[in-house]
Amino acid sequence: MLTPVLSDNWDQINAWQLSSYQRTGGYDALRTALAMQPADVVTAVKDSGLRGRGGAGFPTGMKWSFIPQDNPKPKYLVVNADESEPGTCKDIPLMMASPHTLVEGVIISSYAIRASVAFIYVRGEVLHVIRRLQQAVQEAKDAGFIGTNILGTGYDLDVVVHAGAGAYICGEETALLDSLEGRRGQPRLRPPFPAVAGLYGCPTVINNVESIASVPAIIKNGADWFSSMGTEKSKGMTLYSLSGHVTRPGQYEAPMGITLRQLIDLAGGVREGHELKFWTPGGSSTPLLTAEHLDVPLDYEGVGSVGSMLGTKALQIFDETTCVVRAVLRWTEFYKHESCGKCTPCREGTWWLVQILERLEHGKGTEADLATLLDLCENITGRSFCALADGATAPISSSIQHFKDEYLAHFEHGGCPFDPMASTVFA
Ligand code: NAD
Repeated sequence: MLTPVLSDNWDQINAWQLSSYQRTGGYDALRTALAMQPADVVTAVKDSGLRGRGGAGFPTGMKWSFIPQDNPKPKYLVVNADESEPGTCKDIPLMMASPHTLVEGVIISSYAIRASVAFIYVRGEVLHVIRRLQQAVQEAKDAGFIGTNILGTGYDLDVVVHAGAGAYICGEETALLDSLEGRRGQPRLRPPFPAVAGLYGCPTVINNVESIASVPAIIKNGADWFSSMGTEKSKGMTLYSLSGHVTRPGQYEAPMGITLRQLIDLAGGVREGHELKFWTPGGSSTPLLTAEHLDVPLDYEGVGSVGSMLGTKALQIFDETTCVVRAVLRWTEFYKHESCGKCTPCREGTWWLVQILERLEHGKGTEADLATLLDLCENITGRSFCALADGATAPISSSIQHFKDEYLAHFEHGGCPFDPMASTVFA
């Protein structure tokens, strides 16, 4: 059940180098793909059931099939490597450990949609990742996998590694495109979706790192192999990141549909002497869950059925020493800081959310503040330009749903009943 796919070569010596990657069959899938018709590569990815690993779970092959091939404009592939969701740490480790898995995926995916230029848009802060990718792209160029007449097939491709400037909003696909075009990154109205009018107004596929890195294994082993893993509607193996109060935090590759209970077992359990209090299934932009939800299948349907979202599969684990109000305040400050300011519900709303949460955390709030918070969340959700504001409200409303008593205890206590320095426990 736990045969790794994406991470199978991570423990090889110098796994990031071309020679090491090729020793474990690297770039064999590229040869296979280039011997296929581009449309057949799209069909294979469609049949595999791969869904976007950036968080939304949109079917990857279907997205590729939206690229209008009768449109004479150039087509682009853009890899969203701007991983920034709090708690999410899967794409950066993947790119560090095995950048060629991504680069091979980029070449195959570009061929499938008939793009001759691909961009990898990486967070500006992670200079070590940018350097590693640049090195991998150069190695692939030197080996004839990128450039003109790739492997004698007549297919030409250039791959550009582009460094962003460290804005969370630039992980939103249309803000990313604005940023790539040299403008301030702010979301565009959709539709049109990038598949129709994306980079420079041309048809563009934007996919997450893990989605594109999954493509070589699908081509190599077949769509049926990939779709034999996971659940009925959420296929394949995937990377979960576990952080917080577990014994061994890190990246765990497992089939879609594994439960948090199983993953925590793999991670050595919740830290000794403590118990799970709450967790996020997909970073802080997804509604919080509790110990009641330990056996929920971690796939799009399973997590959706309990009122949350799988999102980026960033499982942040909090034990009973954590004040939920403080955690939610911290996340909300992040969203307020990262709001791009383009639309009013997000720009103004996140500011008000922080004001009220600060009052509550410091024991100066009232029960009416809780009602105002919920009302604000309701008025922000679904009314902003992009998903940032929806993400900001998710932990607030879910924490009030699950931990209303803890909010109330802050008023009764006249302050936070937790002492973070001494880690005293709220009883
Ligand atoms: P979305 O559901 O609106 O779109 C998902 C993808 O499908 C996009 O690429 C979009 O272009 C495409 N798409 C959707 N409908 C389409 C259509 N009719 N025609 C063509 N293409 C279509 O989601 P989103 O707003 O792009 O992303 C939200 C997600 O981002 C959240 O689920 C969250 O988990 C995730 N997220 C991830 C990070 C990170 O660091 N990885 C950070 C923040 C948020």
